[in-house]
Amino acid sequence: MPLYDSHLHTPLCNHAKGHPREYAQVALERGLAGICFTDHIPMPQWFDAPWRMRRDQLSEYIDMVAQTQAEYAGRLDIRLGLEADFHPGTERYVADILAVYPWDYVIGSVHYLGAWGFDNPDYQDEYQRRDLGELYTSYYHLVAQAARSGLFDSIGHLDLPKKFGYREPVSFDAHQPSDAVLRALDAIAEQGLSLDYNTAGTRKPVGESYPAPLLVRAAHERGIDFVLGSDAHAPAEVALGFEAVHAHLQQLGAVSVTYKQRRRA
Ligand SMILES: [Zn+2]
Ligand SMILES: [Zn+2]
Repeated sequence: MPLYDSHLHTPLCNHAKGHPREYAQVALERGLAGICFTDHIPMPQWFDAPWRMRRDQLSEYIDMVAQTQAEYAGRLDIRLGLEADFHPGTERYVADILAVYPWDYVIGSVHYLGAWGFDNPDYQDEYQRRDLGELYTSYYHLVAQAARSGLFDSIGHLDLPKKFGYREPVSFDAHQPSDAVLRALDAIAEQGLSLDYNTAGTRKPVGESYPAPLLVRAAHERGIDFVLGSDAHAPAEVALGFEAVHAHLQQLGAVSVTYKQRRRA
């Protein structure tokens, strides 16, 4: 199956480097059939502003990728999407941004619990003050809400709070995912969303892709499909870790889709 890397960033988010054409070049050299840029969506001014493009930079984003599409026409299928945030209260703002352009693919990600950006390395000490069971329960509750919001095509890095190694506590059976994550997976399946199979976790302290193998199986049992993404914030990260993931998906008999075309009304 020709592989796509469907989770890529650009320097517009202020924490990635390399022009989209450099990502495209690496994708071509690594034998991919296509890529999809999914840079962090603009959000209201008060939300996580340093880590994303401003709303007035959206057209620059679209133009930059369009230019790369033209340069690689016939050699690499280049798509344009967004990684959107799900944060209760901002749904209307996000819906407005999603309406300004026919995005190919929109990932919905939860990066915040209240005011805490829990995947920010600067604030990881907060994990030591939290009850991890409660943390994961509230997180997966937000993921289920994100799935039901109707805004997104997939859910980003499903078990992200494990990033720094603070895994979800196991209650009685290590082979049984928690009720909270199963409810989130039920919502994802019900809504026909995919899961971002994200290899960035292999480059983080946890040393494992999102989602964990146990959750990949539970998702597969529910008929959820996977969209492969490296979450590259630099050209060299394009398609990193894909061989292992692809082998795992094939072993499971799971279908991995390229990017997932938007459901249009
Ligand atoms: Zn990022
Ligand atoms: Zn993310």
